Amino acid sequence: MKEPRCAARGRHCPSSPAGRRVRGPLPEGDNARMTTTRHELLHAFDLLLAPGRFKDYGPNGLQVEGRTAVRRLVSGVTASRALIEAAIAAQADAVFVHHGLFWRGQDGRVTGWMKQRLALLLAHDINLFAYHLPLDAHPELGNNAQLGLRLGLVAEPGPEGRFGEQELGFIGRRAEAEGDGFADAPALARHVEAVLGRPATLVDPGRGPIRRVAWCTGGAQGYFEAAIAAGADAFITGEISEPQAHYAREAGVAFLACGHHATERYGAPAVAGHVAAQLGLSHEFIDIDNPA
Ligand SMILES: [Zn+2]
Repeated sequence: MKEPRCAARGRHCPSSPAGRRVRGPLPEGDNARMTTTRHELLHAFDLLLAPGRFKDYGPNGLQVEGRTAVRRLVSGVTASRALIEAAIAAQADAVFVHHGLFWRGQDGRVTGWMKQRLALLLAHDINLFAYHLPLDAHPELGNNAQLGLRLGLVAEPGPEGRFGEQELGFIGRRAEAEGDGFADAPALARHVEAVLGRPATLVDPGRGPIRRVAWCTGGAQGYFEAAIAAGADAFITGEISEPQAHYAREAGVAFLACGHHATERYGAPAVAGHVAAQLGLSHEFIDIDNPA
């Protein structure tokens, strides 16, 4: 996600050379069975994610052209130098990310971190595919759908289950099997923290049970007012800015910021894994930890 702030994050957070690789490169004897072409891979991603339906903050699809033949695919959240280096170590032919290299508002110079990342990709002839809003939005494999799945939240069926600009936000309830909502906002926060394995920032207006939950991954704090208008008792996203604390208290709607990276690390492996299985490619998700 989303809005110009997210694009700014995309530009700055990725320079994390301190980024810690959580999972290693491909093991020996990986499962690559087939070879496809860059063109076929792009076609498969486009077919699944329909990028033409979105007004986005950067180009979706192939951002950096590498070799024609593709056998090994690596996915990650952000095309950071750490991820590119890990992909090189994994002998990847293509990398699939949510946060690519190019965003509206950049000055276009190939210097500093941009030069370093591009140099690595070009020197190793690796294709870079990036899908931003289309990856947030996919109804089963996207960031919002996959976060909901992990949190045990189910969006209302049809248009009732979406809100906000470009209908990117999801709204619904706790899945039946998970119980009848949450006792209160702190109970929801504890649940989210346990699932994501990191602390959340909670603004609790102290209004009792949480039944209707809205969520939108990444830097979607700008969607909070739309979530309030859609009748949410609580809104879950990655980041908080100063105004949202006041909106939460004044509207009586709980706000949870659970990490931009932490909320957006499920869509890329779901989509890349799906397409890799379709085409018989090997796939590995490499999570470069990010405290943001
Ligand atoms: Zn994002």
